[in-house]
Amino acid sequence: MKPDIHPTYRLITIECACGNSFQTRANRNEDTWKVEICNACHPFFTGQQKLVDTAGRVDKFLKKYQKFAQK
Ligand SMILES: [Zn+2]
Repeated sequence: MKPDIHPTYRLITIECACGNSFQTRANRNEDTWKVEICNACHPFFTGQQKLVDTAGRVDKFLKKYQKFAQK
């Protein structure tokens, strides 16, 4: 390979919001890469129907429309 023209391709740690972390190779400058969903918590892989509510958006929605449901 020609020197100095290739992006650095190195081992980094992927950190998921569910707590799972694993190592992979990527050409990123950071040592860690934070993701919101991974193979351990994505419904496709877990086979479960569950909402991954990392930002509290579902709670926000339910709170907002609670008053309409009570009528
Ligand atoms: Zn995950």
